[in-house]
Amino acid sequence: MSKPVVALFGGGPACLIAAFFLADQCEVHLYEKGKSLGRKFLVAGKGGFNLTNSATGDSLEEAYSYHPNLAKALNEFDSTATRAWLKNLGIETFVGSSGRVFPEKEIKPAFVLTKIKEALVKKGVQVHLNHEFVGFNEEQIPLITSNNETKKVVANHCIFGLGGGSWSKTGSNSKWLTYFAALGIKTIPFQASNCGIELTWDPIFSEKFNGTPLKNIAIKVDKDWRKGEILVTSYGFEGNAIYPSVPEIRQQLMKGQNVEIHIDLKPHNSLDELLIKAAQNGLKSADYSKVFKVERGAIELVKSILTKSEFTDPTCFAKTLKMATFKVNSLRPLDEAISTVGGISMEEVTTAFASLKFPQFSFVGEMLDWDAPTGGYLLQGCFTTGYVAANRIIDQFNN
Ligand SMILES: Cc1cc2nc3c(=O)[nH]c(=O)nc-3n(C[C@H](O)[C@H](O)[C@H](O)COP(=O)(O)OP(=O)(O)OC[C@H]3O[C@@H](n4cnc5c(N)ncnc54)[C@H](O)[C@@H]3O)c2cc1C
Repeated sequence: MSKPVVALFGGGPACLIAAFFLADQCEVHLYEKGKSLGRKFLVAGKGGFNLTNSATGDSLEEAYSYHPNLAKALNEFDSTATRAWLKNLGIETFVGSSGRVFPEKEIKPAFVLTKIKEALVKKGVQVHLNHEFVGFNEEQIPLITSNNETKKVVANHCIFGLGGGSWSKTGSNSKWLTYFAALGIKTIPFQASNCGIELTWDPIFSEKFNGTPLKNIAIKVDKDWRKGEILVTSYGFEGNAIYPSVPEIRQQLMKGQNVEIHIDLKPHNSLDELLIKAAQNGLKSADYSKVFKVERGAIELVKSILTKSEFTDPTCFAKTLKMATFKVNSLRPLDEAISTVGGISMEEVTTAFASLKFPQFSFVGEMLDWDAPTGGYLLQGCFTTGYVAANRIIDQFNN
């Protein structure tokens, strides 16, 4: 008996893992519009390459924007499952700071991708590079274009993993939103997530300190302080302390509200402790670095928002060190964001990420409208949705 045919569109991590699990029982064709697979995956590997996060159960679920289907899926294929899958491919991982999971030191991102690709070839997955999905015909059959020729893709099931809306040079873009909207599937315009913020601030400071990290700080927008690191840039801040606050900032900006970000440059000291230091007799601003044990960048950041007399007043300086406030003007442009929200609405899919309107289609990875911070959660979301979609398709074919 011939095997069921599954067509996957998009060569990112979400479709790669789906292809891996489907290939044992199905004829799998993977169509990628670019010249190679996993380009964003390789970009992800250029910084700290977090393959997943060791969080499991409730703490894993809580890292994501809540949707019952995603929560259920994260329990079905969590970071332990991802690590076991990678280990099986010959990729050893270790848990680093804040639960981030990295490949072992000597393992480069290209090697991880090669191992995945080798496994797909071994399992007989047929990869079609330079094949772009360009929409549907009137019978809702996907169309692909290659070498100026457009063809129908006839398959028992199609999985779409076309990626989010940022880093268009890696292949992902917003073009496909219209193809699904034309079928009556609800799509949401992409917005930046895990991105930098633009501030109203002192251009002299930003020019001088562009590229300076401020470590061991805490930030808050509304209620919760988040510890981490920020990077001073020419336009504002980037960094792991900023990214988790982006959803809050985005919502407030969309409502047209005035958004402020507060920075505590000494989160390990109470205000009272700092005020005691500030009360030393004859304390001069030249002594701030030694007395308060703060880096030059932090001192200059505080100075940039105070008048000269406020800055030379140690009490005022200490209070601002504990809470320096900046007005947020906007998020950085979509294309620069590490990830995006928007895409196929979660209202449109089953617990296995199949379309409610077109059950022969499934959606995986960042093209679905979910959000998570950096730290390995993004790739985990792609692996989870890819695995669960594939597994449920296999179950359907077997029943
Ligand atoms: C700078 C940066 C650093 C990152 N670091 C990390 C990290 O350390 N840890 C982490 O968890 N996540 C990280 N991420 C996020 C992570 O890389 C993405 O979330 C992930 O790659 C998304 O996977 P995906 O399969 O959904 O989509 P993608 O990886 O974007 O793949 C989608 C694929 O679909 C193809 N495609 C698009 N349209 C079509 C079409 N019409 N026809 C055919 N093919 C098409 C694209 O060419 C692309 O190859 C980072 C991202 C960036 C940009």
